[in-house]
Amino acid sequence: MKRVYLDHSATTQVHPEVREAMLPFLGEGFGNPSSLHWFGQEARQVVEDAREKVAGLLGARPEEIVFTSGGTESDNWVLFGSAEAEAQSGPSGGKRNHLITSQIEHHAILHPAEILEKRGYQVTYLGVDRFGMVDPGALEKALTPRTFLVSIMMANNEVGTLQPIAEIAGRLRGKNIVFHTDAVQAVGKIPVDLKKLPVDLLSLSAHKFYGPKGMGVLFIRKGTKVSQFVHGGSQEMNHRAGTENVAGMVGLARALEIATRDLEANSLRLRRLQKRLEEGLKQKIGDITFNVHPEERIPGLVNVSFAYVEGEAILLNLDLQGIAASSGSACTSRSLDPSHVLKAMGVPTELARGSIRFSLGRENTEEEIDLVLEILPGIIQKLRDMSPIYPAKKR
Ligand code: PLP
Repeated sequence: MKRVYLDHSATTQVHPEVREAMLPFLGEGFGNPSSLHWFGQEARQVVEDAREKVAGLLGARPEEIVFTSGGTESDNWVLFGSAEAEAQSGPSGGKRNHLITSQIEHHAILHPAEILEKRGYQVTYLGVDRFGMVDPGALEKALTPRTFLVSIMMANNEVGTLQPIAEIAGRLRGKNIVFHTDAVQAVGKIPVDLKKLPVDLLSLSAHKFYGPKGMGVLFIRKGTKVSQFVHGGSQEMNHRAGTENVAGMVGLARALEIATRDLEANSLRLRRLQKRLEEGLKQKIGDITFNVHPEERIPGLVNVSFAYVEGEAILLNLDLQGIAASSGSACTSRSLDPSHVLKAMGVPTELARGSIRFSLGRENTEEEIDLVLEILPGIIQKLRDMSPIYPAKKR
């Protein structure tokens, strides 16, 4: 059976050029960068080259790029590290105990925020409009003299809506509040230039742009207050302990290089495929709604609700025919609760339960999209025919 992978927001296959770049460091280039001998110093050079490359591609300085074990660690670090730094700052230390985030963040932000709440911090979870966008004006109104951190994602992982990060950064300017953006779903898909975008902290993750899993970066702009999160050795310029994943760093840097090189061409292709899928679905299936901002969106992500059916049932039926999609984020797809993102966008629960995310990637073709358009209408009709809530007059 031909298998079609349409779940690139969950993860991507390592690009062949990335794999090739990594292989030497899973072999003879095995040195520990902290060792003083030749093996170590060779590895040290490789690590610093990777850091420089990533910095150059993002418009950052090398010393502002810290490698982590992925988006989840970077996000956790931001919340716990900023809270810790605030608590330790000066004579007024610990006075500020309020942070602002949004209801549609990834759980790598939401769960640490909930833990901070249990420790006595106040957290404002901003709502979004029906397209999944945060209102910068509402954010500004939510600021208090006790706000020390604002964390708003750049692109949402379930619906693909892009947030007005530059505008939010503008509104926070001069207020001595740390501004973080979780750019895990944005980097590699839209241009990100940290020379122009005045955020203090930014998380990214290699496996979302054809790099290896378990590799990420936290960008820490020079002068930003954030305490260390992983303690131990003095690696990563004393910012993050643990023997370096040299192959992973090389892979992340190479993947970002390729993603940047191919960004425009890929983006155009993905938008074309996305349009083909959306137009086709509209033509072939009734009672559907698309959950995304009409313009401010990452290329290639289509989140669609099918009335009267369950998303899980659609997914299983698609999988039986070789098509891999997802309902909401990969991390929550095993839970039966409707997506917190769709809920925040005001999508009614019944519709949220019937939502599917198709996230397209570099290897997808028009033929694959057409295959989905051939198979899916039959699946939806079959499920609707079995559904007790499907109106008799539509049968
Ligand atoms: N943030 C967002 C927006 C994500 O989509 C993800 C992964 O799905 C993460 C954070 C977590 O990243 P990682 O899988 O590298 O831990």
